[in-house]
Amino acid sequence: GKTIGIIGGGQLGRMMATTARHMGYRLIILDPTPDCPAAQLADHQIVAPYDDLNAIKQLAEQVDLVTYEFENVDLNTARYLEARGLLPQGTKALEVTQDREIEKSLMVELNQPVAKFQMIKQKQDFTSAMERIGFPAVVKTCRGGYDGKGQLMLKSADDLQAAEALLEKSQRLIYEQLIKFDCEVSIVLTRSKTGDILYFPVAENHHRDHILHMTIAPARISASVMKKIKQAAEAIATALNVVGTFAIEFFVKGDEIYINELAPRPHNSGHFTIEACNVSQFEQHIRAICDLPLIPVLFHGGAVMINLLGDNLEVYLTRINQFKQAHFHYYGKKDIEPKRKMGHITCVAHNRDQLIETLKKQQFI
Ligand code: ATP
Ligand code: MG
Ligand code: MG
Repeated sequence: GKTIGIIGGGQLGRMMATTARHMGYRLIILDPTPDCPAAQLADHQIVAPYDDLNAIKQLAEQVDLVTYEFENVDLNTARYLEARGLLPQGTKALEVTQDREIEKSLMVELNQPVAKFQMIKQKQDFTSAMERIGFPAVVKTCRGGYDGKGQLMLKSADDLQAAEALLEKSQRLIYEQLIKFDCEVSIVLTRSKTGDILYFPVAENHHRDHILHMTIAPARISASVMKKIKQAAEAIATALNVVGTFAIEFFVKGDEIYINELAPRPHNSGHFTIEACNVSQFEQHIRAICDLPLIPVLFHGGAVMINLLGDNLEVYLTRINQFKQAHFHYYGKKDIEPKRKMGHITCVAHNRDQLIETLKKQQFI
């Protein structure tokens, strides 16, 4: 069988590896942390920084193809692999999604709805942004942010100093209107090399401290919002020539949708697919990059996924003993930190609303 290389050995790499392994592939992980979550399930780990060209060459010699678990793959690395025919996902989706400026500009170009925004490249740009967009607003660094890191809420001009300090550290910011959304949702899809797209159910996402806390599927949205989401997803995935699993986050307000951000990989809000669907976002991803036909998605009907962070771990581990529908996943990370994702729990049922009710009654959620 083939050998798959994965750049990045965190929980997403680990769940890809779990699937790839039961499909019979060999796995090599590139990650700087020895015995990282994915390496525990792989045949071999190359312990090196993600952009170490020697390590990449070593990886390239040992595998039939390479995928990645995050969008911050160094573009030179990605191009090196692409030129050798080892990167089925290509580099376009990476290039766009690793930079919010490029990502937002593409959305505008594709006529896709986003919150009002403006680029901030020097201090003076704040003046026009405040005039045009006003408050409340959020400023975001263009590269490298996750779980709300590199972001700042602006309630009034009083918060400007903090924003200027962020600009000094990061050179480029996006100033974005804060959307007073009814809910946040995401769609996870998989696209094959031949352009087939299969969708997982649209999921509803609840954050705590900017970190995903809970996903409910299917999302409680109207049919017309659902339709807008599918249309946007198809247009974006096609324009980016996506191969593999891909996710889009949205804000929903009334009948309007706004695209928040894109992820060229499996997504935290798609973890429910492992137990709640006939094929998971990870299996579909491996199939897409290995040129296997995608499996039509079937869904049990209702799912609730809860992230286990260092600081809620104990609470939920006691609760799962009281709730027999709770599947749990533990990522094998060595150090427990309060806001670090350590694992997750998924509960599945035929009926979403009944599931939510049961979970509430048992004080699970
Ligand atoms: P992730 O961990 O999903 O990659 P991130 O750090 O890239 O997160 P975003 O997804 O841009 O950050 O924002 C994190 C959260 O902050 C959003 O899910 C949303 O709850 C809130 N948020 C961000 N931008 C806006 C906005 N323009 N209006 C309202 N809420 C926002
Ligand atoms: Mg993000
Ligand atoms: Mg996000």
